[in-house]
Amino acid sequence: MAHVTAIKKGTFLEQVVSTTPNGERLLHCMQCGSCGGSCPSGGDMEYTPRAIFAMIQTGEREAVLAANTQWACVSCYFCTTRCPQNIPITDIMYALKRIAIAEGTARNTDAPALAKTFTDLVDKYGRSFELGLATRYYMLNRPLALLRMGPMGAQMFTRGRMSLTPTKIKKIDQLQAIIKKAKELSGKK
Ligand code: SF4
Ligand code: SF4
Repeated sequence: MAHVTAIKKGTFLEQVVSTTPNGERLLHCMQCGSCGGSCPSGGDMEYTPRAIFAMIQTGEREAVLAANTQWACVSCYFCTTRCPQNIPITDIMYALKRIAIAEGTARNTDAPALAKTFTDLVDKYGRSFELGLATRYYMLNRPLALLRMGPMGAQMFTRGRMSLTPTKIKKIDQLQAIIKKAKELSGKK
């Protein structure tokens, strides 16, 4: 039977729940472990989603935000589709990443920088641009590694797997207006 905890204001639990669509479903986690069992990244995670959710409920804020779990998540949604309690597991992983990035406590992994580079490109063009994503990310974060990426990039280009210039989607202004509004609603500039 699901163990349901009341949400106290100002707690980490409240923060996670309030920043995740349908986040209140987290209270219905029955610790069945189906999420971790179906997760392709489970073996790389310090804590499975099931363990993370128990830690969120008991207020282990620092340990949760320092964990690699959310960064190992590849957003495949397997867990979300299998959860018997309809808990938006993948979205909670995103919420944990957002909180850690906003607070500057994201662990030392490439994922936050890569995520920011990706969202900056989507803001500008409405879609990802592989060459720009890789180049900008490596220039800003791992310039020496960029040199080693050259041959692979050339191979992708000759096989038609990568374009040299970004293309904007149609009606990019409408997408940018939506993104701007979403940022306003979430209190970001
Ligand atoms: S599958 Fe759902 S109910 Fe089961 S442990 Fe994971 S989050 Fe909790
Ligand atoms: S969405 Fe993330 S947590 Fe869920 S199964 Fe996929 S990798 Fe694992």
